[in-house]
Amino acid sequence: MRTDQDQPVRLADYQPPAWLVETVELDVSLHATETRVRATLRLKPNPDAPAAAPLALDGDELTLTSIKLDGAPLAADSYAATPERLSIAQPPQRPFVLEIETLVDPTANTQLSGLYRAGDTHCTQCEAEGFRRITYFPDRPDVMAVYTTRVEAEKAEAPVLLANGNLVEAGDVAGTTRHYAVWHDPFPKPSYLFALVGGALGHVADEFVTMSGRRIALRIYVEPGKESRAGFAMDALKRAMRWDEEAFGREYDLDIFMIVAVSAFNMGAMENKGLNVFNDKYVLASPETATDEDYANIDGIIAHEYFHNWTGNRITCRDWFQLCLKEGLTVFRDQEYTADQRSRAVERIADVRVLRAHQFAEDAGPLAHPVRPEVYREINNFYTPTVYEKGAEIVRMLRVLLGDAGFRAGMDLYFTRHDGQAATVEQFIACFTDAAGIDLEQFMHWYRQAGTPEVAVTLSHDAKAATCTLEIVQMLPPTPGQPVKEPLVIPVVLGLVAPDGRDLPLRLADGRELARGVLVLSRPAETFVFTGISERPVASLNRGFSAPIRLTANLNADDLRFLAAHDSDAFNRWQALQTLALTLLIDNVKALRAGQPMRTDAGLVEALGAILADATLEPAFVARALTLPTESDVARELGRDVDPDAIFAARNALRASVGDALGPALRDIYRRLADRAPYSPDAAGAGRRSLKNVALDLLAASGSSAAIALATRQYHSADNMTDRMAAITTLSLHPVRERQAAIDDFYRRYQADALVIDKWFALQAAIPEAGTLGRVQELMRHPAFSLGNPNRVRSLVGAFTQMNQTQFNRADGAGYALLADTVLALDARNPQVASRLMTAFKSWRALEPGRRAKAETELRRIAAAPSLSTDVRDIVERSLADT
Ligand SMILES: [Zn+2]
Repeated sequence: MRTDQDQPVRLADYQPPAWLVETVELDVSLHATETRVRATLRLKPNPDAPAAAPLALDGDELTLTSIKLDGAPLAADSYAATPERLSIAQPPQRPFVLEIETLVDPTANTQLSGLYRAGDTHCTQCEAEGFRRITYFPDRPDVMAVYTTRVEAEKAEAPVLLANGNLVEAGDVAGTTRHYAVWHDPFPKPSYLFALVGGALGHVADEFVTMSGRRIALRIYVEPGKESRAGFAMDALKRAMRWDEEAFGREYDLDIFMIVAVSAFNMGAMENKGLNVFNDKYVLASPETATDEDYANIDGIIAHEYFHNWTGNRITCRDWFQLCLKEGLTVFRDQEYTADQRSRAVERIADVRVLRAHQFAEDAGPLAHPVRPEVYREINNFYTPTVYEKGAEIVRMLRVLLGDAGFRAGMDLYFTRHDGQAATVEQFIACFTDAAGIDLEQFMHWYRQAGTPEVAVTLSHDAKAATCTLEIVQMLPPTPGQPVKEPLVIPVVLGLVAPDGRDLPLRLADGRELARGVLVLSRPAETFVFTGISERPVASLNRGFSAPIRLTANLNADDLRFLAAHDSDAFNRWQALQTLALTLLIDNVKALRAGQPMRTDAGLVEALGAILADATLEPAFVARALTLPTESDVARELGRDVDPDAIFAARNALRASVGDALGPALRDIYRRLADRAPYSPDAAGAGRRSLKNVALDLLAASGSSAAIALATRQYHSADNMTDRMAAITTLSLHPVRERQAAIDDFYRRYQADALVIDKWFALQAAIPEAGTLGRVQELMRHPAFSLGNPNRVRSLVGAFTQMNQTQFNRADGAGYALLADTVLALDARNPQVASRLMTAFKSWRALEPGRRAKAETELRRIAAAPSLSTDVRDIVERSLADT
């Protein structure tokens, strides 16, 4: 466990590295418990740093066995080595070669950072600071070097030996049962992008011809026997490679691109140069084992990691404060890829749902931080929705502000100007300023200020003057460490919709027409007057969710129903329905808490019915429109005094009333969409299945026995995992006999398949009933569960704390206690996964007083534990800090 990092790291303290590394030659001799790593570093003083600096290399749990400088062993008094640091007080102030030999134990490495074993496969994970667990190194992203890696292992144990770059040479080690492979990566890279893999793996092979005609070998490595499940990932990879050429002009650069799927991985996937390592959940898919959602995740994540080759690898981050430079930008790129591959409107709705569920919630709680933080204690805790999702929204706003051509010009300039460099957010933004001639000084506040902006719009219409006036106020609430905020540049895409559904011309009082419909806010309060508008329009605001804001407007229920039916912007049709439903749910939660009856909204049901009846809409969109706001959506909008039981009751009642009122139409849709065609994971097929299964779930919402029978039939007759999973999920919400029978059947069918058993754990953890806590505790003792495997932990404990609002937030605090117990049991073994689980507490201050007190008790219990990792200590202290 690391303890030397309790000192916060500050962006303001950044200093260029004193020493640069030109080349790294690694010779790694794999062994389950004693892997020998020989590193030969060609070092030189950095001309941009103060002269005569000592040499200090980072380590983490390392054992030094030998050290030489320019070929000669170093005298014991000329260096100091601890597990965390190797320093030479007076190194020669000229280029020299340092040879370091260390021993590491991959089997004991339960943190899954550095070199570890996933099953019998040796693999590495170096981002953010894992390379220092392999050898001593200036382990920071602005030290970029050319790597040559020799990997050696027992032939029988690890017939496959991989590292970054192109294969140079391979062969047997004479006189032994071992063999080796040498890989060379000609592109300078930071140490966090290093990777090697050794194991007994099967693979699928393919080829991609780039836009300049170069032939690239493609390989996806999986556990032997699972090759047939890698086909979709390979297809996704080729589509991603083509898309990056077409959308951004970016071509792949090495001769080979490899993906390795491993069963034990702390995150989703990792973009190591030429050798991506993936959680196998995001590679393996077959119709019988993966849902449409799994397929979509694979598509998006394969693309995301591939796109990093340019946004992250060729141009990397100067320091970890700039993490959004690679992550926000790459998330934006993968979102655009998915929008082009599937449906743009549906993708946008999906992305905004994720943003609101995770990032808005983070922004409103004690863990709020700017997209570019200015201080951290543990960088692993900053791989957050704010850095990723809000980071992507900032890039999207740039495109809204600059238009497609201006945005592309800025990106092109970024790629040419900074290729091969470790860059900053300022350098990225300067490319758009220079390419498009636009001042982005005030826009930079998006990177510096935490919190979700609140924008209030008041529309008034003057029939006599034929004008329409928008008065707009923006406010950014205080967040930890940032009590006072500057106004932001907010691009709000606007439509003024006439009573006949047409978009009116947006002509300002000064005669200027609004370019691309973009209203650019920049002051705390401003007024816009539009002319030539004789009839009162309805304002369609923030179309396509052009800015990541919380918007309120003086739109009444009739206006919202009008937008739901007529807006030319599909996102805002969906948003109008969500706003109507959310308003009703919030009223009813308040009513329930006050002991008053809930109200109904016939207009909302009618609007949902109209969407369902509109044959021109794509099924995937209709499915989204019929999906009511989640319990977390309601909690977030309430913002304080949150009672999860009242929210659950109000939402359940609304689902039941919609299901009953639209029953005949839902049954009709369900029948019409019951596909006889063979399963295909394409977007159209997925859209039809998703609408069919939303219809099934709404029909069953009131517990009708006919609908339960329908779900039971679908569960048993399904020929694909999407339909089977949807049916059992619907059943799981109802305390009926059929439920347990299906749960038992599911285990019997899939017990040999770890990824499917993850679904079985998650399904049971999410049952919103009092017995679930006991069920989860029992499942933690199930032979298929292991604290050592992050996917199992996330599928059981993660699903319970994130997907089950009523049971995690039990009034007696037992849900919080279960999470605290798990975090404390896991921390010493895998601090990254333990601290990630802790984020389930991110909204604890918004709870009603009783639950808030219980949550605080458990947070204080964790804080008082005698020995905590830096990861968990950082999260728990920030969660408890006075704001
Ligand atoms: Zn990424």
